[in-house]
Amino acid sequence: MSMYNPKSKIASEFICDEEIRDTLRYAQENCGNRELVEGILEKARAFKGISHREAALLLECKDPEITERIFALANEIKHRFYGNRIVMFAPLYLSNYCVNGCVYCPYHAKNKVIRRKKLTQEEIRAEVIALQDMGHKRLALEAGEHPLKNPIEYIIESIGTIYGIKHKNGAIRRVNVNIAATTVENYRRLRDAGIGTYILFQETYNKTAYEALHPTGPKSDYAWHTEAMDRAMQGGIDDVGIGVLYGLETYRYDFVGLLMHAEHLEATYGVGPHTISVPRLCKADDVDTGDFENAVPDDIFFKIVALIRIAVPYTGMIISTRESEKSREKLLELGISQMSGGSRTSVGGYVTPETESENSAQFDIADHRSLDEVVGWLLDLDHIPSFCTACYREGRTGDRFMTLLKNGQISNCCLPNALITLKEYLKDYASPETRKKGEAMIKRLLADIPNERVRTKAGEYIGKIEDGERDFRF
Ligand code: SAM
Repeated sequence: MSMYNPKSKIASEFICDEEIRDTLRYAQENCGNRELVEGILEKARAFKGISHREAALLLECKDPEITERIFALANEIKHRFYGNRIVMFAPLYLSNYCVNGCVYCPYHAKNKVIRRKKLTQEEIRAEVIALQDMGHKRLALEAGEHPLKNPIEYIIESIGTIYGIKHKNGAIRRVNVNIAATTVENYRRLRDAGIGTYILFQETYNKTAYEALHPTGPKSDYAWHTEAMDRAMQGGIDDVGIGVLYGLETYRYDFVGLLMHAEHLEATYGVGPHTISVPRLCKADDVDTGDFENAVPDDIFFKIVALIRIAVPYTGMIISTRESEKSREKLLELGISQMSGGSRTSVGGYVTPETESENSAQFDIADHRSLDEVVGWLLDLDHIPSFCTACYREGRTGDRFMTLLKNGQISNCCLPNALITLKEYLKDYASPETRKKGEAMIKRLLADIPNERVRTKAGEYIGKIEDGERDFRF
């Protein structure tokens, strides 16, 4: 009898190794069954998702014509729920002190070469002002795990500092947090500090591989890490973000594990993951990607992203600057709804860009463009760069957000909010060239807002922003 139970709160039961292996066998055996494949694609067309088994079967299907249909459907689903908006954010690295032994991350405790750094509150201020001056409104906080150097009190204090900084027209309006798995009590404190999403990557769902990749430190406890989102929910955090680090384990296993995690959250809490991230392993200080044999080639990676979009249609999907411009351009058409821009992965890197010899960075990024270049590029590709943070500030989190998204009502807020926040960006931070492109897009898309009252109001807000007022939202 399989132990698999999506509603269980025990890691080995909701991420059940036996169920994953069974699923992979089933996918192998049935991927040539045309009738089955057509049936799953038909089901996916209802925009209500497909199961981990169904998605695994499509992933295994080698027919290029089917892959093209999967890509087209992913793009359609993205547009249905998220339009052509792309929410912008940047990571902020607070500290690279870490007690863990993750073999793929240069922050691991045994790395004596990397320059260790922890930002003071004054240094955080300077970093945040630099980020505000680029135009960012939404951050993802990143830190190594170190109970003495980076205790929860430090993280909470830093969040307070960040929200408190008012510089020119700048403001950070949503702080997401990507820190190590912690206790219910600490999650409650993060909730009380007003975080947006709590993000934690599983790295790999394969317990044996997980234990080998995390030989020492608190993160080596697979169950503690895998059950973190359940504790976060218990601590009152509504929005959680999951992901695996592709390239560590075989992509097939982790693809199924990730979808089972999403199914677990939906089954247990009535709301799936707010976001899913799709990082791929990068070269870093003392980490050579050549030492890892599970690198995921582009064509398979693209299919994974498209199938996550199809399987979990409501989730936000995040791509970072780990991916190159070329890869990001392709991924934009496969379901991505959020991306970072102008990122620095070194501690203090926004104020003082690092030279090669003093690396405190977590990994080497592939997209080095400035935020303005990324915004201009998105406009050229007919995507709306959005700096919106309205849902969370209006209390539209957790199942409230998901319900509005699922029944399509969210589009009455999202398009106007995207245009309003883009207008702020263009007015305060954009280069003349980007501003011109952005203004043309706003003029064109304002007319697309379906509700007349909202359309009129959005036009008024945009006029007021032109006159110097800020921070409107629906
Ligand atoms: N330290 C926290 C933890 O243990 O969960 C999270 C913060 S860490 C700064 C963010 C993520 O970066 C990790 O969860 C991991 O997936 C990813 N990462 C680590 N090393 C990487 C590498 N060499 N290339 C790409 N991503 C990496």
